[in-house]
Amino acid sequence: MEKTSTPTHCPYCALQCGMNITPLPQGGVEVTERADFPVNRGALCGKGRTAAEVLSPAVRLTTPLVREGGRLVEADWPEALDRIAGRLAATRERYGPDALGVFGGGGLTNEKAYALGKFARVALGTSQIDYNGRFCMSSAAAAGTKAFGLDRGLPFPLEDIPRTGCVILVGSNLAETMPPSLRFFTELRENGGTLIVVDPRRTRTAQQADLHLAPRPGTDLALALGLLHLVVAEGRTDEEYIRERTTGWEEARAAAMAHWPEYVERITGVPVPRLREAVRMFCEPEAAMVLTARGPEQQSKGTDTVGAWINLCLATGRAGRPLSGYGCLTGQGNGQGGREHGQKADQLPGYRKLDDPAARRHVAGVWGVDPDSLPGPGRSAYELLDALGSDVRALLLMGSNPVVSAPRAAHVEERLRSLDFLAVADVVLSETAELADVVLPVTQWAEETGTTTSLEGRVLLRRRAVAPPPGVHSDLYVLHELAGRLGVEKGFPTDPEEVFGELRRASAGGPADYSGITYRRLTEENGVFWPCPEEPAGTSGAEGADAASSAVSEAPAASDASASVRHPGTPRLFLDRFATPDGRARFVAVAHRATAEEPDAEYPLLLTTGRVVSQYQSGAQTRRVAELNAAAPGPFVELHPRLAARLGAAEGDPLAVVSRRGRAVAPARITDTIRPDTVFMPFHWPGEGRANTLTNPALDPTSRMPEFKSCAVRVEVVPRS
Ligand code: SF4
Repeated sequence: MEKTSTPTHCPYCALQCGMNITPLPQGGVEVTERADFPVNRGALCGKGRTAAEVLSPAVRLTTPLVREGGRLVEADWPEALDRIAGRLAATRERYGPDALGVFGGGGLTNEKAYALGKFARVALGTSQIDYNGRFCMSSAAAAGTKAFGLDRGLPFPLEDIPRTGCVILVGSNLAETMPPSLRFFTELRENGGTLIVVDPRRTRTAQQADLHLAPRPGTDLALALGLLHLVVAEGRTDEEYIRERTTGWEEARAAAMAHWPEYVERITGVPVPRLREAVRMFCEPEAAMVLTARGPEQQSKGTDTVGAWINLCLATGRAGRPLSGYGCLTGQGNGQGGREHGQKADQLPGYRKLDDPAARRHVAGVWGVDPDSLPGPGRSAYELLDALGSDVRALLLMGSNPVVSAPRAAHVEERLRSLDFLAVADVVLSETAELADVVLPVTQWAEETGTTTSLEGRVLLRRRAVAPPPGVHSDLYVLHELAGRLGVEKGFPTDPEEVFGELRRASAGGPADYSGITYRRLTEENGVFWPCPEEPAGTSGAEGADAASSAVSEAPAASDASASVRHPGTPRLFLDRFATPDGRARFVAVAHRATAEEPDAEYPLLLTTGRVVSQYQSGAQTRRVAELNAAAPGPFVELHPRLAARLGAAEGDPLAVVSRRGRAVAPARITDTIRPDTVFMPFHWPGEGRANTLTNPALDPTSRMPEFKSCAVRVEVVPRS
């Protein structure tokens, strides 16, 4: 054990709650809440409170494994690394660099995400890299970029929420996903503000709302258009704002006016009076916000759906103004930073575009390579997984468990099995690692230092608090060793601060500019909001700085002499101008369309999927924590009493949920908090109750997000044997 108590952050969701880790004399560590971190102010959910259990060698990997005679057996590091490098080199030699795939994760630190993107493009020379964050927030990112010229989950800190007048929370169940964040909404209501929740289920979050709108899954695009129609019809638009700060209103207005409230009621099932009530609650206060999460985003029209909600904000003058705006509640721990620094198929560090010649020149200059040597954009996450075993023959996977978390998971599992070679670096032997030819045991949150970027766009330092078990190395070490074996001796340091220094240079002048952020600052401050260029605010932008940097709006005053030469970071974006070339936000004209798979006679119901409070994502870590498993031991099928009666199902009966992609079985949980035409399954478990066996990989044309949130199913009672 290295020292007494270390302030750091939770390994799980994008709230990145502050916690202290204290080694105990008898062994193990104690996790306690940090009251000084403004996001959780001394609260942790059960996942964060028990996170240290996954540090135990009893549940995590401590030795490399290699496949021999069909079984994974223990090996030493040189043997495992030699085997990976040898197979990657042989595959590249035989099939070319794009036969090599790399799959990352939204839980990787910024340093790891950066190094992984560089490794793919420089050490392997492949374009075939993407990550599981594509399944998280990509539709909101695409819609935000279209409308504002920049995507940062929240363009304001969470602490603004209690001071606004109304929040519409769309497809987010914070009571299960980020419980400490509920405090901001409780304070909003205590201050006289109102909360509207849009969710097909009356979730624990919806139960706290002043108004709950429960549309059919996959119809919230129509819902947003219906609200905008009423805003126009009732004369509640902000014409001056529209004139001064936006473009594209006439087309968006015409599209919305085609969505009459009665038509929207027929599509969504939300009665017109409730639509009118929502418009009144949203428009009457001075300021208001719309926050989306996976509900509207994980659809084959997710980008348009989020765009429709943004249009509602723009038409009412509720974006880029104090205490108003649109934001996305990013899910994974580093879902925000993970998409900014190069592990996404189309991006380079600093949120630059891989197909932008100036961006390629800048990053290639930092990397010391010829810009022409950098591959172009590759496949999106599901498309990459779908190509395994055919175009992509070998895969290196870090920090992801697609056997449980990918849509059409049985097919993805079969694709993984069909690979010539699979290498996985992970903390635990996940369901995906079990399929690998080589498994590398790597360090995790409390055992390593690195930065993450929270859903607020706040860059944070997670500090090493304990030594890893013997035989465990960091992902940065893995990339360093593999690059060396592949003939790239330089450019892959193992020290995270050195990697961050290079990331700062690579991001300088880009939309997500981290160049003014240092580890030292992050130890002194409770995080720094990007963009944060190296020079202080008000001096000229870095060479090549684009509209994003100049979209800096409200920065806190420097508090001391040394801080006066620092850029203070950017807690609030867009107050003066948006990050588009003309500084105006862009309406996008969108229209309702059906989900990719509507119910029919054979599959008459809709399945929607989501989370429970005691498990996280694919459950690879949290399913190894006894307390969490006791609270949430397995999957279930939530259904309405009327549907249960029609099926002849009683509480706890095994139900088979069948879609065009497969069959999952889990016990019935009967509740009137769900629509009678919809069933719900949480997606944290493998095996016969795996919800993602059923989900539909139909992709959004812009974001390439699969349609996790809606597919057609039938439900059958399984006779008990
Ligand atoms: Fe960790 Fe998220 Fe729970 Fe906070 S809310 S303790 S960040 S899992």
